[in-house]
Amino acid sequence: MAHDVVVIGGGNAALCAAMTAAEAGASVLILETAPKAYRGGNSRHTRNFRCMHKGPLGPLVDDYSEDEYLADLMKVTAGKTDGDLARLAIRSSEECLPWMQDHGVHFQPSLSGTLSLARTNAFFMGGGKSLVNAYYRTAAKLGIDVLYEAQVTHLELAGDQIAWIDYSHGGEIHRITPKAVVVASGGFQADTEWLTRAWGPAAKNFLIRGTPYNRGVVLADLLDQGVQSVGDADQCHAVAIDGRAPKFDGGIVTRLDCVPFSIVVNKNAERFYDEGEDVWPKRYAIWGRLVAAQPDQVGYVIIDAKSLNLFMPSVFPPLKADTIEDLARQMGLPADRLRSTVDDFNAACGDQTGFHPTELDGVATSGLTPAKTNWARPITEPPFYGYSLRTGVTFTYLGLKVDENAQCSTQDGPIKNLWAAGETMAGSILGQGYLAGFGMTIGTVFGRIAGREAAAHAS
Ligand SMILES: Cc1cc2nc3c(=O)[nH]c(=O)nc-3n(C[C@H](O)[C@H](O)[C@H](O)COP(=O)(O)OP(=O)(O)OC[C@H]3O[C@@H](n4cnc5c(N)ncnc54)[C@H](O)[C@@H]3O)c2cc1C
Repeated sequence: MAHDVVVIGGGNAALCAAMTAAEAGASVLILETAPKAYRGGNSRHTRNFRCMHKGPLGPLVDDYSEDEYLADLMKVTAGKTDGDLARLAIRSSEECLPWMQDHGVHFQPSLSGTLSLARTNAFFMGGGKSLVNAYYRTAAKLGIDVLYEAQVTHLELAGDQIAWIDYSHGGEIHRITPKAVVVASGGFQADTEWLTRAWGPAAKNFLIRGTPYNRGVVLADLLDQGVQSVGDADQCHAVAIDGRAPKFDGGIVTRLDCVPFSIVVNKNAERFYDEGEDVWPKRYAIWGRLVAAQPDQVGYVIIDAKSLNLFMPSVFPPLKADTIEDLARQMGLPADRLRSTVDDFNAACGDQTGFHPTELDGVATSGLTPAKTNWARPITEPPFYGYSLRTGVTFTYLGLKVDENAQCSTQDGPIKNLWAAGETMAGSILGQGYLAGFGMTIGTVFGRIAGREAAAHAS
């Protein structure tokens, strides 16, 4: 059967587009390159989405205004955003929450702990995997066809429209000619060669926190044909994660929250940045780049017994030793150097009576470079614990430029039957930096817009 609308990708943005288009009366086919068990891309790793609201809404307490949300975005992007699209995403997020519930998503109150997001971020019951599964169930009820292990390899741009789509499935290339196409196939972070072209050889040592299937195949194909892009190839969301995480799909459990209570050294056992600059959620995203700039793109976190219970444990237990020298040996670090780095740090620590683990407490080192400006307590109490750190890329920002209708264009004007949603166009709004929960907001808002527009075009 020929479909009106073909949606490329099988994550949140794709599903939002597909369901919206089907509800508007279009026949819809989803082409998902992953096998069924791995469907749902990065979306299946998520936990929450950031939502504007004028009063209590679902699991969200108090209110979170458009202006406050925008101010939060401006802070993290340093103004590198499209203001109109940002406001559209923010404003539309409020109606998304009930829409998501109508389409099978259940929410739960946010967890207390290092992140206090009860006002701003709505948490999915069962995480992103449950959200994705719920959407696939709803999609089935709406009669949407889904083809797994179907990798789109080419969209033929002829003048101002997409003439056909090529995809591989079952060892063969197939060609289809839908009336409308929505691209929701994510960023290119899983293509290590592309990442290396953008970042240099260091990128070979990066870990990819999410799906191995977001390789930017459709993005590259469209950019090669002159479809307008947005964002820089070397901009991405990257954090420091447990160095023992797998190359792909480690997900949220490989996150490490211990940095503020630690010292972090490179492979030469030297400190390189203020571990206590700010509370961890605010500094979380800069450590990916800091570690990327170190030799071999690795870092090592050292804490002592008194800090072990101050942060959320990660999936892998830390290395443990009775002495700093033994810990250094276990971590492959030069023991003498680590000893003297720890001694220098300890000697620079002063009065700790004001120590407060969840607030900027001003308990700082003096006369040390780099300084540690908060939570600076000497590392003296055995056992000592260590974690290795690597750069974990969440998603890349180079993407397809869209307008407020999620429509793609060339320099000659809009492409009549091509829309984009989710990670693949997020660079339109996220020029740099990241706001927790905003990826799912962008995908939900623009997925729904793209689905609506694609269905309208097809009819
Ligand atoms: C560990 C982790 C935790 C995160 N937590 C959060 C969070 O709590 N809140 C939040 O807002 N964001 C979070 N994010 C970011 C979030 O995952 C993304 O912003 C969001 O999921 C993007 O949705 P998407 O539909 O655009 O992409 P994806 O969900 O990645 O979907 C892309 C889809 O395209 C498919 N695909 C790729 N290439 C092709 C091709 N050539 N042909 C056919 N199909 C193709 C893939 O298989 C995949 O199904 C997290 C990311 C990670 C990695």
